[in-house]
Amino acid sequence: MSSSSTRPRIGILGAGQLALMLAEAARNLDVDILCAGRPGDCAAQVAEVLSVDLEDPIAVSDFAAKVDAVTIESENIEATVLSSLNLYPNAQAIAIAQDRLLEKDFLRRQGIATAPYGAVDSLRDLHFALDTIGAPSILKTRRLGYDGRGQVRLTHVDEASAAWAHTGGAPCILEGMVRFDCEVSLIAARNGRGNIVFYPLTENIHRAGILRTSIAPFANPSLQAKAEAYLRTLLEALDYVGVLAVEFFVQGDNLIANEMAPRVHNSGHWTIEGSETSQFENCLRAILDLDLGSTLSRPTVMLNCIGTMPPEPETAAFPMIFRHDYGKVPRPGRKVGHLTFPASETAAIAEWQQRLSQSN
Ligand code: AMP
Repeated sequence: MSSSSTRPRIGILGAGQLALMLAEAARNLDVDILCAGRPGDCAAQVAEVLSVDLEDPIAVSDFAAKVDAVTIESENIEATVLSSLNLYPNAQAIAIAQDRLLEKDFLRRQGIATAPYGAVDSLRDLHFALDTIGAPSILKTRRLGYDGRGQVRLTHVDEASAAWAHTGGAPCILEGMVRFDCEVSLIAARNGRGNIVFYPLTENIHRAGILRTSIAPFANPSLQAKAEAYLRTLLEALDYVGVLAVEFFVQGDNLIANEMAPRVHNSGHWTIEGSETSQFENCLRAILDLDLGSTLSRPTVMLNCIGTMPPEPETAAFPMIFRHDYGKVPRPGRKVGHLTFPASETAAIAEWQQRLSQSN
């Protein structure tokens, strides 16, 4: 390890809420956190944030020289910027996860089902893909899409020109619309010695492409076993170190992979209170090559706060709520915090689902 202090130092590219919660988890461990971002970013509440242009390879490598290991809070960082860093997970895993076409090709090569898809680089390609995939379908930009951004739904093949114009000519994939029973995700951590832990499957409810509610566990032993086998395959194929999240559509007894996130994930925020070791702590443990912590969990529900945080006195009136305010400036569609509940608090959860859906 290159830092002069005896404590290892992990650098995070990004200083948003995932970096904030990683830095909070670092308090349980003998490690320092340094973030690369902008001074006003929310991780600055608990960690040092250096001003770094994440698109500038020299600035990023200067940052990396100050730490022992680097991790990311967003996969949307140019692969060329990442290539020379001591990076967890490795640059190959990030390059695959940041490109929907590479990701789907990779998932299929590992024997994991996905929606039918085709590469689209032109209106002609889109017509060709529609001939095989048909409608309804979704045109998604290959890169930089999240929370439903960079996506257009086609209900009829006649909408091809309008959909293609909407993407602005960016490289895309066309995906067949999956008729799913529900959506789930599995989060796993793997350390440098190849030890792996899995969290329980979590059910995720989205509205307008944004995650609203996560409910853990999604208690289905056969799907849990299937999802764990899939993630083990992916982690080992990539020689992955860190936390990996994979989102799936549930269709009867089958799992269809939607996408993978090479980092801690919104659908695992409930693990802070709901698991013996949170996804954030296990991510740091994996990078430090420590033993991974127990993922033994209690039934837990997480509600995202989108746009604005509810006033503090309103949540304080519900003593069972764990309130996480990321300290962000309110903005429509922005994830500004989350509330975590023991799953047994069904009345309070229903009330807050209602309140949050009215305010965002
Ligand atoms: P994504 O950005 O790919 O995670 O998509 C956001 C949300 O859109 C997903 O969580 C699903 O609810 C929905 N979605 C995306 N792709 C599909 C698909 N191929 N079929 C059905 N729903 C989809």
